[in-house]
Order: sequence, then structure tokens, then C-alpha cells
Amino acid sequence: KGDLTMIPNWLMQRVYLTPNKIALSYEKESWTFKQLHQVSTRYARQLKTNQLQSGDRIALLGASNVEMIFIIHACLLAGIEIVMLNNRLTDLEIAWQIEDAEVKAVLFADEFEAKVKSNKMDKISFSTVTQSVESPFEIEENWSPDRTITIMYTSGTTGFPKGVRQTVNNHTSSALSSVLNLGLEENDVWLCTMPLFHISGFSILVRSVLYGMEVRLYEKFDAKKIAREIYEGTITRMSVVSVMLNQILLELERQEKKAHASFKTMLAGGGSIPIDYLKRANACRIPILQTYGMTETSSQTATLSANDALRKIGSAGKPLFFNQIKINGATRANEHGEVFIRGPHVTPGYIGRFQENSPLIDGWLPTGDIGYLDEEGYLYIVDRRSDLIISGGENIYPAEIENVLAAHPKVREVGVCGKEHPKWGQTPVAFVVVYEKIEAEELMKYCEEQLAKYKVPSEIIFIESLPRNASNKLLRRELKQWLPQQ
Ligand code: ATP
Ligand code: MG
Repeated sequence: KGDLTMIPNWLMQRVYLTPNKIALSYEKESWTFKQLHQVSTRYARQLKTNQLQSGDRIALLGASNVEMIFIIHACLLAGIEIVMLNNRLTDLEIAWQIEDAEVKAVLFADEFEAKVKSNKMDKISFSTVTQSVESPFEIEENWSPDRTITIMYTSGTTGFPKGVRQTVNNHTSSALSSVLNLGLEENDVWLCTMPLFHISGFSILVRSVLYGMEVRLYEKFDAKKIAREIYEGTITRMSVVSVMLNQILLELERQEKKAHASFKTMLAGGGSIPIDYLKRANACRIPILQTYGMTETSSQTATLSANDALRKIGSAGKPLFFNQIKINGATRANEHGEVFIRGPHVTPGYIGRFQENSPLIDGWLPTGDIGYLDEEGYLYIVDRRSDLIISGGENIYPAEIENVLAAHPKVREVGVCGKEHPKWGQTPVAFVVVYEKIEAEELMKYCEEQLAKYKVPSEIIFIESLPRNASNKLLRRELKQWLPQQ
């Protein structure tokens, strides 16, 4: 029909273009795009037998494994909207999201049966699907750009998780922007150990079908095996969050290894990366690309090139080609304010409980993050607006203190929040998990050497582990409840 605004059904187009390229590998097995297409087409027909078809919305609960990838592609081929459920959520949280999203059915990997408690909709196990007969149907070759592909709930770090719609256009433009920035090589292999239900993992699958690129899948994060892939050069790109990066670095350092020359991109996002990690990565010759993104922007909005990594240490870089960033209300470089984003990758809106809340203000997405742009237009994310500590009229960003403490060799991880103070309004308190015993005074002294006096924590509290949500993000609002009462 030649409508330029249509986007081809990703996998159908890919299998037509490069059927014999490797699409996916896991341990010693691999699948070409043709094989991936064959299995997912069969699943799509089996979904149809189970009354699931184009236009339906389902919730999907599974592990980040090969079967899950086949099911995801089956839903995409069939035109089914997928609510991607985080399998680390509690039963209650899952039930809440399923109801909020008003899905027609829940599709679950058999091992997660016990987690699906809601009785309000159909529950269909993967094995039910794969044991069904096939109902052949004609697969739509083209998609309208504003069709919803996935719905992902935000991590719920600052409040209730919000169901974000991600359209064909959002995902496609995100993958295109990324490749314009990172480039593409014939032998590229992207290691995926990020959860598939999160945009960081899902976006790797999208890039794979759009670029014709192999995904090397890890069901579980395994620092030792992954470090080996990095120094042996069996993978060329990878996405991580800072906790993973640290473990990979420890492994490389322990073995005194450096990354293989063909390893090109370590895309690090989800939160700020401690500066100490960036320096250690540099020593291991790992090209770190710090990136800033959120569920509402279908992955990266800005990314810092590896060349700038040390010159612009701590920056999240510049916006990708199709995206724009502004600091709301700022009139000059380096002025702090809320980060606003605009571009084809920005969600058209939420579903469920937040459906009525338009995510946009005059076409811009307010992110809830405080940041600034330097003279050259590089973005720096400072912290969450909601976690700001105001002490004696001065703004304190918990992340700055966490960064300092995290670099101490005896500190494993650290979280900072504000505590009410009769004189100063608030003072920062640090919760610290250590590798080995250390006195609070020593850590305070360490902070005093690097931070202005008002930023030095008024208390240091040693704990076993930090409160994190199912996305492994630090919950500073929970730390507040852990503060000793006086
Ligand atoms: P909720 O919106 O429910 O509170 P969330 O914002 O944590 O949860 P996500 O969409 O998973 O949910 O995370 C996006 C957020 O992660 C960003 O708004 C930002 O606060 C943080 N983030 C992402 N990348 C970076 C980065 N490079 N530096 C600092 N923070 C980052
Ligand atoms: Mg958010």
C-alpha cells in the first residue's frame, strides 16, 4: 500500500532481509532469524487458539530466557499488546498491576504459576500455549506507528508504579537514535543480562530485530562468565547497571584482565555510576557509555560517548539525534533545574490509574530529575527532585554524598537521606554497608576531606543491606523510615 507512515512488522521484515543471520544465542545454542520467526509464528497461532489475537492486551510473566523471547515475538507478530510484569514483584504488586492494566488474560511461565493470584481474568500458562493446536491466520505486515507494543510499569522508586504505553514509534525511534550514536558492525553481539520485562532488556530485543544483530542471552547475571566474554571478545556490546558493572570490574581486576579490543560499548544506566567505577573501567579498557533514560522514554534519551567519558566524567552526555533536552526554567549553562524531554521516543501516556494524568507539559516530559547542561550542552543528572535535602537553606543531593562514600575501599554500598533537624531543617544521614569493619568517625573524616561541611553526614548508620525495589533501585523514602527516632 506504500504508506510511508507505516512501519513494517519488525520480525517479518527482518526474516525477509537476513534470514540466516544469528538472532539469538544462549550458552551453546543459537537461533537464526528464520528459526526465531518459525517458532514465534507457531506460538502466535497457538495464542490464537487460546483466543488471543490482534488488539488484545495481555500481561506477561516470565523469566529472561529463550522461551520468553519466543513468546514476546509471538505476541508482537500477532499484534497483541504486552504488559511486561516484573517477576521480582510480590504477588500483591503483580495482582495490582494486572488489575490496573485491565488485561484480557495473564500469560505466565509455568514456574510462576503461584505468583498469579487474581481470578478476574484468564490465566494461561506457557505450556498450555505450546501444547495447543495451531490456528493459522494472516499476520499484519505493517504497523501503524502509534500502536501500543508494550506497557511497562515504572520502578515505583518515588511512588506508585505507573503503567507506561510504549508505541511502535517510541521503540523504533529509540533503536534508530541509538544506532546513529553507537554505530553498527557486521559482527556485533549485544549481551543481554538486563531483565526483558524492563525497557533496558526489552530494547535490546528491539535493536536486534531492527539491526539484524545477535543477542547473547544470560538468564542470570554471572560476573565471572560475562567478564570472560568481555576479555575474550565473544561479545561487543552490553548494558549494565552500576552494581553489575562493579562486579564485572572486580572480576577483571582479580584476574588482571582487560577488555578485548573488539568490545565497544558498555552502556551503563538506570542511575548514576560512581566516578570511582568509571576510573576503574578505564583501567580495564572498558568503554563506558553513561546513559540517561526512563520507562517513559523507551530507553536512552542521552548518552555520553566513550571518548568523552573522562573529559566529562559523570555526565550522561548529549541527547540522541531525534531527542531534545531542556532544563526547565534555566537561563544559563550549569543552572540546576528539572530535566524536560521531548522526542519521538516519549510515551503518549499512561494507562490505568494514571491514565488521566497527561505525562506532558506543553509537549515536554517533566522527568522529576534535577540536572543541568554545561557550556557545551552536556547533560548532568544531579538527583531525584523528591530526594533533595535542604539544610540551612543549602541544597544537598544525596547522590553526591553517596558517590564519595562509595569510593571508599571498605564501603560496599551506601544510601543517603535527610533527617529532620531543629536548627538546620534537615541534615544528611548515610546508611552504609561495609566489606569490612570501619569506624563511623573514619568515614566522616573521609567525607570532610571531599565535601563541604554542611554535606558531611551528621550520622553514619551501619546496616546489612539497603532497601531496594524489584528493579534493584535504592529506596531512599524507605531509608527515612529506618532513621532512629529521638
Ligand atoms: P518511578 O517513576 O515509579 O518513581 P523510576 O523513575 O525509578 O520509578 P524508571 O523509569 O525505571 O523508574 O527509572 C528512570 C529513572 O532512573 C530516571 O528518572 C532517573 O531518576 C534514573 N536514572 C536513569 N538513568 C540515570 C542516570 N544516568 N543518572 C542518574 N539517574 C538515572
Ligand atoms: Mg520515574
